[in-house]
Amino acid sequence: MGINNLEHHQFDAVIVGGGGAGLRAALQLAESGVKVAVLSKVFPTRSHTVAAQGGIAAALGNVSEDNWLWHMYDTIKGSDYLGDQDAIEFMCRNAAKAIIELEHFGMPFDRLDNGRIFQRPFGGMTKNYGEQPISRTCAVADRTGHAMLHTLYQRNIRANTQFFIEWFALDLIRDGDGDVLGVIALEIETGEVHVIQAKTTLLATGGAGRIFQASTNAFINTGDGLGMAARAGLPLQDMEFWQFHPTGVLHAGVLITEGVRGEGGYLVNSEGERFMERYAPNAKDLASRDVISRATATEIKQGRGVGKNKDAVYLKLDHLGEALINKRLPGIREIAKTFANVDPIKDPIPVVPTAHYMMGGIPTNLDGQVVEPTAHGERAVKGLYAVGECACVSVHGANRLGSNSLLDLVVFGKAAGEKMVQEIAQSSAHKPLPAGVADSTLARLARLENTNNSETVAEVGAAMRKTMQTHCGVFRFPDLLETGVAAINEVASRIAKVRVNDTSQVFNTARIEALELDNLMEVAVATMHAAHHRTESRGAHAREDFSERDDANWLKHSLFYKQNNRLDYKDVRLKPLTVESFEPKKRVY
Ligand SMILES: Cc1cc2nc3c(=O)[nH]c(=O)nc-3n(C[C@H](O)[C@H](O)[C@H](O)COP(=O)(O)OP(=O)(O)OC[C@H]3O[C@@H](n4cnc5c(N)ncnc54)[C@H](O)[C@@H]3O)c2cc1C
Repeated sequence: MGINNLEHHQFDAVIVGGGGAGLRAALQLAESGVKVAVLSKVFPTRSHTVAAQGGIAAALGNVSEDNWLWHMYDTIKGSDYLGDQDAIEFMCRNAAKAIIELEHFGMPFDRLDNGRIFQRPFGGMTKNYGEQPISRTCAVADRTGHAMLHTLYQRNIRANTQFFIEWFALDLIRDGDGDVLGVIALEIETGEVHVIQAKTTLLATGGAGRIFQASTNAFINTGDGLGMAARAGLPLQDMEFWQFHPTGVLHAGVLITEGVRGEGGYLVNSEGERFMERYAPNAKDLASRDVISRATATEIKQGRGVGKNKDAVYLKLDHLGEALINKRLPGIREIAKTFANVDPIKDPIPVVPTAHYMMGGIPTNLDGQVVEPTAHGERAVKGLYAVGECACVSVHGANRLGSNSLLDLVVFGKAAGEKMVQEIAQSSAHKPLPAGVADSTLARLARLENTNNSETVAEVGAAMRKTMQTHCGVFRFPDLLETGVAAINEVASRIAKVRVNDTSQVFNTARIEALELDNLMEVAVATMHAAHHRTESRGAHAREDFSERDDANWLKHSLFYKQNNRLDYKDVRLKPLTVESFEPKKRVY
């Protein structure tokens, strides 16, 4: 199939992803009168944002006095000082505005008796620079993402955003100047390949938690945007940093929100001990997620786990009472009954640390523009943006605080939308497409039908997940990382031999799974290499052989390039926009 047979489309802006990030940006563009297309491989309201439970952070001060600077400090400390302070300032300073905006869009936040927006405590969110936990997280019961995503979707319908639903973006179009001119995409139902030309392209494809065996992420979280960026020669930043959420349901992986601990729930070991009191005397069960996941893993390793195999701990919330659980945590009660076979009103839920969130991603600046290093510093790639979990701006650094991701989506979704409107206004015509624009993509598709190939998606995928789970988990060991690099390289080499047995089958889903595996593999390889190289412990990256943070050598972001598995590094931006820097200090909770 040559390029002439492909169907062409032209837009001012194309957005890949209909989750919270993509939809917030799309709204900004559509309301500015820009011709915008949103591609989504699933119906937009099925994006993973819909699963967000606990809430969205902003220093509204509705429950107790609060200040965006405290939120900024908590986020920097939570990031273990790897977050860029200008980006963190921008996010925290704009948080309250973003919440009020969502409210005006029609998002049905829970209320206090006085009519103001309800807020609950969340891990690492504190008063007065670490003094004590504070209620900063706005919520819609335990279904906050659901409410947010549906609100944004409806707003986009009203603004005439054009949706391409069940379309799968395959690759970026990048010309000889390094400019991005749109994407190549597959219409899942028909199997047809399309060229979507755009003056600006935004990647908002979400996370990639499916590189691990045990994950709270949806099956669709396969890092497609990262794969596309990596294949286009762009770096992936800070990929060694993965958040393991302390409370995934044992065996199922389904998330139990931190909001449970925010409402007063806590963890206990087999001796009935509330063990977080030992690991984080102040914050206890509301310490940062990396701290609690390590504590839990340690309890289990030392034989104080619960259950038949002693491989979990209990999350206890029966003392909160039926009324509060039904009002604030109804979804959690359902999940516990369905996936753990316990009713949390009476019995504790068995939980384990479970892969949850990718702190790394496609590097961007504060306007959501994708950036790459040059000989003299850094430049924005013309026409390309990234926002949300697939991006790394970086506000979460080495460890994200719960309820900061939904905030990241709307604050930077809006900022990117505004910048895209400007860029579109400045460019008159579409740049001509390079010759052979879809060649490498078509070759990738053809490979899947090559009858000489013998590997299956299921087997290679399982090998990848096992390798990541075994070699790159909550704690990282030198020998396992060493062998992990060789192991993941070997698994990745099998990708070239993957074949889909019958591509005509079941609406192309087999082909889509194979293409998703290509992307997952880029993420897995980047993660393992970056983790192996970082010889310190910081945030979610906890090495057994280098157990301390090493600011002298490692206060820097990693950049992984697909070509030759090369790693590069760049400085953390310690200087905020308008306030004083928060100097790195020891992180205790
Ligand atoms: C169970 C769970 C609970 C969470 N709870 C919270 C919480 O309470 N508070 C909080 O702040 N954060 C929470 N998080 C994290 C947060 O929800 C996510 O980081 C965030 O929603 C990601 O949003 P996104 O817009 O970047 O991506 P997503 O919502 O994941 O959307 C990705 C979009 O990209 C599309 N897409 C992907 N690949 C392609 C492709 N190749 N072609 C076309 N379309 C594509 C998908 O169809 C989808 O529309 C939670 C995460 C999980 C998993």
